[in-house]
Amino acid sequence: MRDVVDLFALTVPDAGKGSGEKGIKDAELSGRHALAGFKRLVAGLPAQADTQVQWFLRGEGTVAGRRFINVQAQAQVTLECQRCLQPFVLPLQVDNRLEVVRRQSDLEGDDDEIERIVGSARFDVLDLIEDELILSLPSVPKHDVCPSVPGVSESSDEPEDEARRPSPFAALKRLKKDS
Ligand SMILES: [Zn+2]
Repeated sequence: MRDVVDLFALTVPDAGKGSGEKGIKDAELSGRHALAGFKRLVAGLPAQADTQVQWFLRGEGTVAGRRFINVQAQAQVTLECQRCLQPFVLPLQVDNRLEVVRRQSDLEGDDDEIERIVGSARFDVLDLIEDELILSLPSVPKHDVCPSVPGVSESSDEPEDEARRPSPFAALKRLKKDS
């Protein structure tokens, strides 16, 4: 799966515009690709639904010679909840702005306000989209609220009866007695 572009052509400033104008030329790219094709993203994740990743890229070059890309991507990934161990679908949203530089050495600088990437005339867009999606994965995926697990809390045929439930304090007392 490859989608190679010239990142410098995408972010070239429009010199034809007058200095009084914005002096920025935008170039846009977008696409949809099967989630299954993003091998690095889905590696180690549970089985994925047959969904698509939608992405959008906009290049921007300023008259001052700086180059930027705005990256947006949307995906629905299936993750395993680390609390209840059930799979759940999490919508991933990427919306990032990166500065495109020429050389590896340009990555270092005192301006830490913005992430930088080394551009290329044969730049793999999908690789970047995949990196950004991986970065947006939660480190500990969890349901906001775990659904009640069948067999644990909803298996009881009898209606819940507060009065008949042993109080946790009573259980504690019993433990103390036994020890
Ligand atoms: Zn859960």
